[in-house]
Amino acid sequence: MTFKTVLLFGAPGSGKGTQGKILGTIPGFFHFACGDAFRNLRIDDPLGRTFIDYSSRGQLVPDHPTIELWRKNIQASTSNGSFHPERDLLILDGIPRNPQQAEMLKTTLDVRAVFHLTCSDMGKMVERLQRRALRENRLDDANLDVIRRRLETYESETKPVLDYYGPKLVREIDSTASPLNVLRSILDQVATLL
Ligand code: ADP
Repeated sequence: MTFKTVLLFGAPGSGKGTQGKILGTIPGFFHFACGDAFRNLRIDDPLGRTFIDYSSRGQLVPDHPTIELWRKNIQASTSNGSFHPERDLLILDGIPRNPQQAEMLKTTLDVRAVFHLTCSDMGKMVERLQRRALRENRLDDANLDVIRRRLETYESETKPVLDYYGPKLVREIDSTASPLNVLRSILDQVATLL
């Protein structure tokens, strides 16, 4: 079966996690954040260790275990009744994170839109990441070198996903606006997709 999907897309610190969490509380929407799935792994899970190895260096976890983790989580949420694939809109945050992952998910996802949260203010993004590091105890955000590396990984590996889906699906959203106004523009556009 295919899932009716929208992607939240943007650099680390662009605010997609904040928006995803809000959208996920609306009936008829199911939110999956890939970074959260990794962070929820048990510390003795081998994939949990792999995640720490890669994320602490600002790199992406390899594609196959990532897609497997996604499948397992989606299956579990379907079985426990929190996700109803036949009626819910799936909101994906942080996956697919490179064109290879997009290709691996091609037959499973029916992507209706890609919301690209743009942020031209690099200083603002770095500041958001550093604030989050303290608040959420995220080691990958605490160190400036790792932050820089993550932004580079985004530019070189993740951004090409926008070309993969193409201009017809990509909607630019100015993420320097207030969270409320970012939410408002996403909701206006999402409403036309249902
Ligand atoms: P952010 O959006 O701030 O970059 P995430 O919580 O989405 O943070 O991701 C944290 C880390 O988890 C990434 O730097 C990466 O190492 C790993 N990760 C998350 N999603 C993926 C994915 N789809 N493929 C590979 N690695 C991922």
